[in-house]
Amino acid sequence: MLLDDRILIDAPPTILHQLQTNNISSSQITDLLITHWHGDHVFGLPFLLLDRRFISDREGVSRLRIHLHSNGIERMKKICELAFPNTLEQVIEERVEWIVNDSGHANGWDYERFPVKHTPETDPHGYLLRDSNGFVLLHTGDSGPCETIEQRIPNSHAILLEMGVPDGDEFPYHHRPEDIIRTASKESQKTFLITHSYASGKEEKVGFSMPSLPSNAIQIEDGQLYNLDISGIQIE
Ligand SMILES: [Zn+2]
Ligand SMILES: [Zn+2]
Repeated sequence: MLLDDRILIDAPPTILHQLQTNNISSSQITDLLITHWHGDHVFGLPFLLLDRRFISDREGVSRLRIHLHSNGIERMKKICELAFPNTLEQVIEERVEWIVNDSGHANGWDYERFPVKHTPETDPHGYLLRDSNGFVLLHTGDSGPCETIEQRIPNSHAILLEMGVPDGDEFPYHHRPEDIIRTASKESQKTFLITHSYASGKEEKVGFSMPSLPSNAIQIEDGQLYNLDISGIQIE
């Protein structure tokens, strides 16, 4: 998710393509908030840094603040070294600022980072974000249903939830359609943005088709633009 064209929550391997498709330069990103250390969320970091170093910010004007737990700094450096050996040390040293506290600011938003229920080895977290107008976005990262998310839903205007697996089995570390339906029906005044979907969303013969969800649970897609504010969510 990209907020205000400058705050990125996680960097998937496809990040550069997604930014280019939406006419956004990698140098516009001021803050990167990490939810957890699975490849689909962080393997885009080396590409992002490489692009800033050699293409979008050759002069080294912009800084990137990376918000993460302190034990993630070494992981991130390792990912960058594996991807581009002996290439990114300098850009990391000179142009990255590490922000390790569990609450802080990211260019117009205040946030609180909180633990969620996902593969424990990935240090999984979500973010409760509030902008200067009082709009509250709950970004839950990857997680199964859990108390830390439930507690924060009543104070949020929009809730971003993953739906990583289909119904039919027990998956404690992900939401299934039945979990989304239960959660969204209980809080029918809230808007749920459903992402990370196992379903293809297209009329193809491979994969799963989109499940039907309550009307306050919007199945979002890559590249879509949303206006989020206290009065509601509009798709552009
Ligand atoms: Zn994950
Ligand atoms: Zn994931």
